[in-house]
Amino acid sequence: MITPPPLRNDCFALPPGVNWTPVDAALTLLKDRLRPVTASEDLPLQEAVGRVLAADVIALRSNPPQANSAVDGYGFAGPIPEGPNVMPLVEGRAAAGVPYEGMVPAGQAIRILTGAAIPDGVDTVILEEDVNTADGKIAFNGPLKQGANARTAGEDVIAGAVALTAGRVLTPADLALVSAVGVDRVHLRKRLRVAVVSTGDELVEPGAEARPGQIYDANRPMLLALMRQWGFEALDLGPTGDDRAQLRAQLDRGAAAADVILTSGGASAGDEDHVSALLREAGAMQQWRMALKPGRPLALGMWDGTPVFGLPGNPVAALVCTLVFARPAMGLLAGAGWHQPTGFDVPAAFSKSKKPGRREYLRARIRDGRAEVFASEGSGRISGLSWAEGLVELGDGAQQVEPGSPVRFIPYGSFAL
Ligand code: AMP
Ligand code: MG
Repeated sequence: MITPPPLRNDCFALPPGVNWTPVDAALTLLKDRLRPVTASEDLPLQEAVGRVLAADVIALRSNPPQANSAVDGYGFAGPIPEGPNVMPLVEGRAAAGVPYEGMVPAGQAIRILTGAAIPDGVDTVILEEDVNTADGKIAFNGPLKQGANARTAGEDVIAGAVALTAGRVLTPADLALVSAVGVDRVHLRKRLRVAVVSTGDELVEPGAEARPGQIYDANRPMLLALMRQWGFEALDLGPTGDDRAQLRAQLDRGAAAADVILTSGGASAGDEDHVSALLREAGAMQQWRMALKPGRPLALGMWDGTPVFGLPGNPVAALVCTLVFARPAMGLLAGAGWHQPTGFDVPAAFSKSKKPGRREYLRARIRDGRAEVFASEGSGRISGLSWAEGLVELGDGAQQVEPGSPVRFIPYGSFAL
């Protein structure tokens, strides 16, 4: 597979006249315009966890490859009618990895262990706990259905079938499945490379001396960690001041080395909002004023063929925008398809009178089966992000939430956080 062509420059163009973009409209637009940009490579299975499948995995072998016993016991030909039974045992036994080569005659039984291939003449197994043995014979009570305690060949996966489909992000369980069907190398998308840059004259590096008026860069460590957690290759472009030339150089670096650029800060239309100014200058920028709290504005644009998500500077808004917009978009770019997070309706533990016109995300967690929200909705309150274990999503319209009203809770886990 060769590297896909770059995205079009008008990727993020909004229809004319659009001023406030509802969240769902923005998501639909992203979903329609973006597509995978990553090339692919073959890798051994042990390096594949968290990676995106570039092609279906076809089972080379059935699972199980042959009929085998599900229990330790005795095998024979079924079915067995109701009532007592006595059967002579053949010499030898069938064990996992050590099959019985002979044929078990009708009316006779064989000692069989879990995972052993079912010998010829056998299709049914009885649990050893249900059997008495003496003098080379077994005694047990029927009835027993034909096929009891036996697994049939291919009952899980048939050779030649699709075991896993392209676009899947491989889990540890998937590695078990892929191994079981005899595959040891998989065709994977290269990791999406995401460059992260923070903008603002006020920012200093965590740990450095901070003068009055300066604040520590909180977004970059968060965003870099998030990218790694999502299986992307994170490229740290460092902080940059509110300086157009410096930012331009950073965007050039990002476009050369990464598939996506995430910036934070400077995304509005103010004097020091250089991200939006530069993207506008490049002729491929859209100021998306999201009907979203916390979040607006989001600057989306293309820099030298590379999509740029210009996130708001406020850490709370930066995280919410990353989870709500950037994550599904990056999933698509990475070849993993478009995934909306799964939410659950739970009773609220709070009251709130929500105005119409924009969607709201509240920092929330579940206690005693109810969703509680962080005491402050201030978007500078970073501690609320840590306090929370997910987000409550309130729809675009007006809503009167009272304790006990159902609200949609999206656990951080649904964002793979
Ligand atoms: P801006 O979007 O650049 O107007 O920034 C909005 C607010 O977020 C301001 O209070 C900034 O100081 C703050 N901010 C911007 N970037 C960061 C960052 N990387 N870490 C923490 N706060 C930030
Ligand atoms: Mg700023």
